[in-house]
Amino acid sequence: GGAGRCRNCRPDLIMKKIWIEGRWTDTPEHLEVKSPYDGSLIDTVSYADVTYVERAANSARRGAEQMRRLSAAHRSEILLNTARIMQRRFDEFALTLTKEVGKPLRESQNEVDRAIQTITIAAEEAKRIYGQTVPFDATAGAENKRGYYMRVPVGIVLAITPFNAPLNLAAHKVAPALAAGNAVILKPASATPLADTMLVEALLEAGLPPEGINLIIGSGSAVGDALVAHPAVNMVTFTGSPEVGEHIMHIAGLKKLTMELGSSSCVIAMDDADIDAVARKVRVAGYANAGQVCISVQRVIVHEKAYDKFIDKLVPMIGAMNIGDPLDESVDMGPMITETEARRVEQWIQEAVVAGARCMMPVKRSGALLSPTVLADVTPGMKVWDKEVFGPLVAVAPCRDMEHAVELANSTTYGLQAGVFTNRLDDVWQAIEGIDVGGIMINEAPSFRIDAMPYGGVKLSGIGREGPRYAVEEMTDMKLVCFDIG
Ligand code: NAD
Repeated sequence: GGAGRCRNCRPDLIMKKIWIEGRWTDTPEHLEVKSPYDGSLIDTVSYADVTYVERAANSARRGAEQMRRLSAAHRSEILLNTARIMQRRFDEFALTLTKEVGKPLRESQNEVDRAIQTITIAAEEAKRIYGQTVPFDATAGAENKRGYYMRVPVGIVLAITPFNAPLNLAAHKVAPALAAGNAVILKPASATPLADTMLVEALLEAGLPPEGINLIIGSGSAVGDALVAHPAVNMVTFTGSPEVGEHIMHIAGLKKLTMELGSSSCVIAMDDADIDAVARKVRVAGYANAGQVCISVQRVIVHEKAYDKFIDKLVPMIGAMNIGDPLDESVDMGPMITETEARRVEQWIQEAVVAGARCMMPVKRSGALLSPTVLADVTPGMKVWDKEVFGPLVAVAPCRDMEHAVELANSTTYGLQAGVFTNRLDDVWQAIEGIDVGGIMINEAPSFRIDAMPYGGVKLSGIGREGPRYAVEEMTDMKLVCFDIG
């Protein structure tokens, strides 16, 4: 939801506090969490200033010591317990997500389901942190040496998360970090701190050492910066926009970094593809959470022979979408996160139309609620193509062949995931080899993700991979042991 400072809050209305130093702590300042749909007050939370950063860092230092003493079996058990508690509170989690993010309940239920899976997979990975022997005796002069490496926790992992999928994106950082034996400082997006507060409640109820996690709700630029720059933090794992990601890299200093950033993901559909099926996929993958998904379909590149047919199929489907209150079960799409964001997307659509794109339906906006749009004849150079829209909009462009499609696919600064629809093996191969992305889906939309797979981008889409197995690797250091056997 939209966030606003609250000056005269009644303390009895304050439901959520920050978790530092092993207890729920209130702060002098508070933040109102509001529904992006109608601006109604959902909850009031404590809002930390920079003075809490030092306290959280010191607490995390003690937490790291507590975490190091836990066996892998114990860490795994805590995470499994957490997953069970979340299952028990499933409906409450889903409702909270719908209220604060503004996405339909069905999508929130899916997110809770996935967060539970992510945590369960991380619990399994806690038991699979292996090392390897090193053949020292292969080097002349080292015949009397024996040794191995193991993986050890980095210490303190700072997790900074965005508004669009606050629960599962936090789970993708917190669960592997704990599985690996680290302490975590979690800083959720200020618009959406509520589901993450519940995640911390679940972890604590599950038996996590009290200082194994610290939850700080506070300004990204002030508190976020101070946390990123803090010398006690060993690693920053960030999901958010490329601008903030790059800024974090500049101020982090010598720390490990994982960066999950933006995208302008595309679908490529060749003329042999089942165009009806592609349109149905795009209807879901382009507009879920009002397009505010990092792997949302933003661009569709269609073979010129199938181009008109695709547009004729897609446009009526999008025109028929029911938009409105995300708590209403008949609604397909709710609002964007703020009115400012909705106005930005509206503006980008107008600019594209001036530059020659065809807008296939009237664009309507009321507050943060923006109607879903299809833009045809979009070309590189337009913002709706080059930049990340992160809104309910799909831009369509024709291509001559796969070579041309690959060139168009690669024409942005991003490279997260892509989806290719064709059964022609030569085209598939050309796409796999040619498109610069972290993941490519064949006969599936780029928004497809299972939580166990390696996930992340190239180019401005980021650095490093998530998925508990890969995140555990990033959140541990190699430690070499060498014996002299005389
Ligand atoms: P954002 O970059 O504005 O904010 C993300 C987080 O960073 C928030 O918690 C914010 O408070 C914090 N932050 C802001 N300024 C900071 C600073 N100076 N120092 C430290 N922290 C700071 O992003 P958003 O609007 O919340 O989310 C949308 C973006 O996230 C999109 O670009 C989207 O593509 C990206 N995203 C990427 C993935 C992925 O896995 N690649 C997933 C979801 C979202």
